[in-house]
Amino acid sequence: MFDKILIANRGEIALRILRAAKELGIATVAVHSTADADAMHVRLADESVCIGPPAARDSYLNIPALIAACEITGADAIHPGYGFLSENARFAEVLEHHRIAFIGPKAEHIRIMGDKIEAKRTAKRLGIPCVPGSEGGINDETEAKKVAKEIGYPVIIKAAAGGGGRGMKVARNEDDLVHAFQTARTEAKAAFGDDAVYIEKYLEKPRHIEIQVLGDGKGNAIHLGERDCSLQRRHQKVWEEGPSPALNLEMRERIGGVVAKAMQDLQYAGAGTIEFLYEDGEFYFIEMNTRIQVEHPVTEMITGIDLVNEQIRVAAGHPLSVRQEDIKIEGHAIECRVNAEHPSTFRPSPGTISYFHPPGGLGVRVDSAAYQGYRIPPHYDSLVGKLIVHGRTRNECLMRLRRALDEFVVDGIDTTLPLFRTLVRNPDIQNGQYDIHWLENFLKTGG
Ligand code: ADP
Repeated sequence: MFDKILIANRGEIALRILRAAKELGIATVAVHSTADADAMHVRLADESVCIGPPAARDSYLNIPALIAACEITGADAIHPGYGFLSENARFAEVLEHHRIAFIGPKAEHIRIMGDKIEAKRTAKRLGIPCVPGSEGGINDETEAKKVAKEIGYPVIIKAAAGGGGRGMKVARNEDDLVHAFQTARTEAKAAFGDDAVYIEKYLEKPRHIEIQVLGDGKGNAIHLGERDCSLQRRHQKVWEEGPSPALNLEMRERIGGVVAKAMQDLQYAGAGTIEFLYEDGEFYFIEMNTRIQVEHPVTEMITGIDLVNEQIRVAAGHPLSVRQEDIKIEGHAIECRVNAEHPSTFRPSPGTISYFHPPGGLGVRVDSAAYQGYRIPPHYDSLVGKLIVHGRTRNECLMRLRRALDEFVVDGIDTTLPLFRTLVRNPDIQNGQYDIHWLENFLKTGG
C-alpha cells in the first residue's frame, strides 16, 4: 500500500480523499494556493505545501509544482479528485515517468474518453448503445447539413473536447443549422482551444442516467447501479439521486451488465461513470467520466461501498474489495449541491460565512470544507457543500431531506439552499416525474 498520498485538489473533495487515506492508514499531503492557506484540507492533512498564487493554472494545474511537492514530502501517489488535472492524460503520463502513482485510470483511457468523438467510437465498439449521430467530426456546413438530414431534426452540435455543458448548440431545422454549427465551433475553440465538433440526434425529453463502475485494470470490472442526474441548470447537475425513479431492477441489471462487460473488455482501472440519456425505455451513451464524480456519495449511500477507498486500492495494485454479487442496492439517496449563489438569479456570492450549522441525524451526510468564519475565495467553483440523505424508501429519503434542509444554516453569503427547500416540496419532484428540462422550465416560470 502507499505510504503517503498527495491530494492535488481543494475543497470538499480534498477532505473526502483525506478521509479515505486516513482510514487506510496512509499519510496525507495537502497542496494549496496562497488563496487557500486557511482551507480545511490544509488544516486536516498531515503536511501541506503551498504550490502557487490563486489562479488555478499557476497552482492546482501547475504540474511541475505538484511533482516538486511530491519530491519534497516523499509522497508516492497523487489523487487528483475531480476537475483540475483529474482528466489530463499527460499528467498521468508525467507522473509515471517520475514513478509517482496516479490514482486514476490508465492515461490511454483518459485520452480516449476525453475526446467525445473517440469515446463514442469506443463505446460503440464495446457494445454500448449510443445516441444516433455523425460517425466522426464534422468539418464543414455541407457535411453538417447532409448528416443532420440523415439523422433527422432536431439535432445537437457538440464539441469533441466538451465539458461543463459548454459548446453545445441545438438546431431544429436546416435554417438553424449553419448558425448553430458556426457558434458551436467558435465556442469550442474559445473554451477548449479545439474547434472539432460532431452532431447527434437531439432527444426532446430524456432523463440523464449514469452508471457507476469500478475496475481493477486487469479485466475485472463491476457496476454499482445508477444515479439520476436529470435535474440540471445549463447542463450542470443540481440534484442527483439513486436509484432512478424511472428504472426497475430488470432495466438496471440489463444496462449495468452491458457497461460492466464493456469495462472488463477495456481493462478499465479505478472509478468511472458512463453517462446516458434515457428516453422511452432506451439508453443512449453520451460520454464517460474517468474520475471520481461530485455525486459519488449517492452510490456510496445505497451500496455502502467507499469508492475512494477502492480507487486507492486499485492504484496500489490490489484487487477490488467487492464482487458484482456483493453489490446490493439498499434504500434511496439524494444529493443536493449547495452553491454559494443566489437561489434564483444564481449570481455567485463569494464572501465570509458568518455562521455555519450543518444538519445531522440518521441518514444525513454533509461533505463540505466550509466552517464558521471561512472566506470563500472568488477564484474557484462555488460549491459550499453537498447534502446527501439516505432513507429506506424514496419517500423516507424525501421526508428526511426536507427536515435536513430546514436544519441547515449558512449565514453571511447567498446559497442555493432555498431552491432545494422549494424543490423537495414540489409534487413533480415528489413523484419522480422530471426530465432534463424540468428544472429550467420550473425556474423560467418563476418556480
Ligand atoms: P458535458 O461534458 O459538457 O457535461 P454531456 O455530453 O455530458 O456534456 O451533456 C451534458 C448534458 O447536455 C446532458 O446531461 C443533457 O442534459 C444535455 N445533452 C447532451 N447531449 C444531448 C442530446 N443528444 N440530446 C439532448 N440533450 C443532450
